[in-house]
Amino acid sequence: MGEKTVIIIGAGLAGLAAGCYAQMNGYDSTILEHHSKPGGVAAAWRRKDYLIDGGIHFIMGYKPGTALYEMFCQLGILPLCELVEIIDYGILIDERSNLRLEIDGNLDNLRRNLVKIAPADEPGIKELLNGVQAMQGIDLSTVGMSKPPELTGIFDGFISLWKMRQVMKYFTGSYNYSIDQWGQQYIESPLLRQVLNRLFLPEAPVWFIMLLLALLANRELAYLGGGCKEFVSLIEQRYLSLGGSISFNSSVDKIIVENDRAAGVQLQDGSEYRADYIISAADGHSTIFQMLDGKYVDKEIVSRFEHWPLCRPLVMVSYGVRREFRNEKPFQMIEIQEPLWEGDRAVSSLMLRIFNYSSRFAPPGKTVIQAEYDSDWEFWHNLYRENRNEYNREKERLAGEILGHLEKYYPGISELVEVVDVATPVTTWRYTGNYRGSWGGWLLTPDNISKTLKRKLPGLRDFYMAGQWVMPGGGVPTSLYSGRHAIQLLCHRDGKKFYGGSYS
Ligand SMILES: Cc1cc2nc3c(=O)[nH]c(=O)nc-3n(C[C@H](O)[C@H](O)[C@H](O)COP(=O)(O)OP(=O)(O)OC[C@H]3O[C@@H](n4cnc5c(N)ncnc54)[C@H](O)[C@@H]3O)c2cc1C
Repeated sequence: MGEKTVIIIGAGLAGLAAGCYAQMNGYDSTILEHHSKPGGVAAAWRRKDYLIDGGIHFIMGYKPGTALYEMFCQLGILPLCELVEIIDYGILIDERSNLRLEIDGNLDNLRRNLVKIAPADEPGIKELLNGVQAMQGIDLSTVGMSKPPELTGIFDGFISLWKMRQVMKYFTGSYNYSIDQWGQQYIESPLLRQVLNRLFLPEAPVWFIMLLLALLANRELAYLGGGCKEFVSLIEQRYLSLGGSISFNSSVDKIIVENDRAAGVQLQDGSEYRADYIISAADGHSTIFQMLDGKYVDKEIVSRFEHWPLCRPLVMVSYGVRREFRNEKPFQMIEIQEPLWEGDRAVSSLMLRIFNYSSRFAPPGKTVIQAEYDSDWEFWHNLYRENRNEYNREKERLAGEILGHLEKYYPGISELVEVVDVATPVTTWRYTGNYRGSWGGWLLTPDNISKTLKRKLPGLRDFYMAGQWVMPGGGVPTSLYSGRHAIQLLCHRDGKKFYGGSYS
């Protein structure tokens, strides 16, 4: 039995990580989770023979010698998790120009392929790839994440600067523009600009794209062979083996506050639980404005929720297909010629995921193939609220239309489809509570990512936040780290030395 009790709201990656570190540091923790299973947006679900994976595309930093590797081991993810090394990032298909571009992990090939489509832009391409080369071999993925902002001092700042010294210039000036803005300024070819925007998100900083390509070139990106299901289940098992407990279908309605101190929680069924500390690893908006009635905010917090852009919510259509896709790239970004229509909004890009890199998503001879696109919260939320039949019909219509489109690439596929599953932004919101269906909290932009968000709320004691809503841009490493941060703060509060690895 631990010394002090902790309630953690949410069994997403951040909540599970917080739970593991709480147990490792002698706290007696309980996680209360709204859904019937753990994982949050790192979600996977079964449909007949098929495992539909609706989360994590790839992870980074899984090789020994990195800070992340050490954390993955502490959380029970490694060495057990099946990982499939990514050799090339995928293929970009532009139906209008007939472009088929492989995003190769070999930088020489990548440069050659990019120059081929935009010879006049060779200097810009060279500049981008110089940055990528400079970032290879430096473990940058967790710089500045070793401690929460409340415990970060000048000395920690120096350590980060020292680690980044060889690549510092790539984090300043025009490298801190969004890739879209940079492309408009330095790249002539509209096609190449489009390619760069599709490498991740058009709003992501140039340095982030460089970092991503450096990880790819270093072979430090991997698909999850067992999908989110295995990844999450390993952390859950680690947490339970450390003596933690999880209560599912336990949706927190209110955080009980006494004399400006978080003292417990009330669930939607009215039951109450008390603890010495409360950590919310759940959706940021509902934590602050619903569970705490918006009483513990300052201007910055309010303004953030009014003005900061969110990750655009996704529509995700998955098909269980009775055929193999052996030689296909698992990751395909397709610019489509004839747009799909979502209400009066044209959708002109689809991201295709083909789960052919592991046998764990479908039985032999069968495959899950999934199309994703950036969607619109209002559209789906209004349909869901106002006309449930229409909402379901729209899901069906889209699934049919996208399948029709896939016929171009895989003639006869429609006849082989055994399962169709459509998830909308409302699905994300219903199962994880994330504000406006955002899949990663705040959008990754140069502005957002430069901000450090405190884990405590003004005026409220014994309460801490974790998860993607305090780590702008979201992501697996950041969410896991944020859980660790919450426990570092508890240890600091209790004058205890934090146990959880020596890496920084
Ligand atoms: C399709 C997709 C692809 C992605 N790809 C990548 C990738 O390739 N690489 C990468 O690094 N990241 C990726 N991400 C992002 C990453 O998965 C997330 O940022 C991360 O999993 C967020 O974890 P979290 O614990 O912070 O939040 P969440 O997953 O949102 O967890 C919050 C938990 O709190 C629970 N909860 C909410 N409200 C309540 C309540 N009132 N009471 C109790 N419980 C509550 C929710 O049910 C949920 O389980 C992807 C995400 C998606 C959806």
